[in-house]
Amino acid sequence: MSTVWTNWAGEQRCSPLAIERPRDEAALAHIVRRAADAGLTVRAVGSGHSFTDCACTNGVMVDMSGMQRVVDIDSVTGRVTVEAGAKLWALGPVLAEHGLALENQGDIDRQSITGAISTATHGTGAQLRNLSAQIVAMRLVTATGEIIEVSPDIDDETYLAARVSLGALGVFSQVTIQCVPLYTLHRHDEPWPLDETLERLDEHVDGNDHFEFFVFPYTDRALTRRTRRSSDIPSPPPRWKRWVEEELVQNKALGLVCRTGRRFPSQAPRLNRLVSSALSASEVEDRPYKVYATNRAVRFTEMEYAVPRENGREAVERVMQLVAERELPILFPLEVRFAAGDEAFLSTAYRRDTCYVAVHQYSGMEFETYFRAVEAIMDSYGGRPHWGKRHYQNAATIRDRYPDWDRFQDVRRRLDPNGVFVNDYTRRVLGAP
Ligand SMILES: Cc1cc2nc3c(=O)[nH]c(=O)nc-3n(C[C@H](O)[C@H](O)[C@H](O)COP(=O)(O)OP(=O)(O)OC[C@H]3O[C@@H](n4cnc5c(N)ncnc54)[C@H](O)[C@@H]3O)c2cc1C
Repeated sequence: MSTVWTNWAGEQRCSPLAIERPRDEAALAHIVRRAADAGLTVRAVGSGHSFTDCACTNGVMVDMSGMQRVVDIDSVTGRVTVEAGAKLWALGPVLAEHGLALENQGDIDRQSITGAISTATHGTGAQLRNLSAQIVAMRLVTATGEIIEVSPDIDDETYLAARVSLGALGVFSQVTIQCVPLYTLHRHDEPWPLDETLERLDEHVDGNDHFEFFVFPYTDRALTRRTRRSSDIPSPPPRWKRWVEEELVQNKALGLVCRTGRRFPSQAPRLNRLVSSALSASEVEDRPYKVYATNRAVRFTEMEYAVPRENGREAVERVMQLVAERELPILFPLEVRFAAGDEAFLSTAYRRDTCYVAVHQYSGMEFETYFRAVEAIMDSYGGRPHWGKRHYQNAATIRDRYPDWDRFQDVRRRLDPNGVFVNDYTRRVLGAP
């Protein structure tokens, strides 16, 4: 009987030959060695929250959920070592108890730490790099079952390749995170006119520790989210208030709008106007792990592109124009975020300050027309697709967007010459090792 695996969105499916769940590094190494000796391929899976088939395999799937322990916390240096399957949501409170926090996070915390870094998962903040940049050392089980230490001190080339590597170099067993002293976030959401948001974009992005905005198609309003960091003791809002603002509005109301729009797609413009007219200001102040992440109960699929920061405004305007001109039934807002450039060879922000433009479609609705048209816009800026979100690129179309593509491939050939860690996704987007 074959086992079927599906991702969070329920749209990527595969039938692995076996799903293994190691409980420690030795068991993990044994699984990889045995599979490689039998000529099988191996793929690690974290929380299955990627929209692409990057975690899929018809070989041996290694489910990392049995390896989630915290191995070491050094409160003085802020370095924290965890097993590779550790979930971001579980890390937050543990770090806080030791006066520490992650430097930045994305908008959910369901991911495993190594799933998140492997696809260059990011949050927002012009001065802040993606999660992989917070990793200072890893332990990697390679194609022979050998365990190697990876860090900039040992071999910078392997480190810069491994940080964002789509599971193609091996299976991480452990990572060490450089954390920062615990801080407080003060988040302020406010609807603003879209043209004003775009005209003063640099001011907002540079004037806030974290800035992002959501734009509703067919409307001229944006929901801006400005977040400041401080060392204050937080005064969190009452739980019911956050429930009303986040759960009721973002999940229950959005779910209703989406279900209505799926039945009556021609009503998308009216539904967007309705949602955007109901937007209101809100504030939250709390510890970071309680602010960055929100619950996403409405299922959707997503594409996200990293474009040079200076092209962000135009890219957003062109997507808005596209939806309006083609009257596309889009029920989700665009999400626009920012990150500092970094050095990992396959980071979507590789050596450029970046604007991330994300587009979504409700589960069960046609998305390809929209996503392909958005991709054509992003191509014109040399856009790099989020590795964990839908796109239609392949190795030939994207290799020139990564100046150190060949350096990544050299490390890959050295660590996995026989393609033990390939799957359909890596064959498509990275080519053969
Ligand atoms: C609702 C939702 C919200 C999201 N929000 C954001 C966001 O704010 N910012 C953002 O950038 N992205 C976001 N994403 C995308 C998500 O962060 C990435 O797709 C991330 O990779 C998912 O982590 P995971 O643990 O589920 O990894 P998986 O999807 O399970 O795996 C991702 C990749 O990592 C590899 N991998 C996993 N574990 C290991 C390991 N131990 N060793 C080697 N390779 C491994 C897998 O083989 C695969 O290639 C969101 C996704 C969803 C569904």
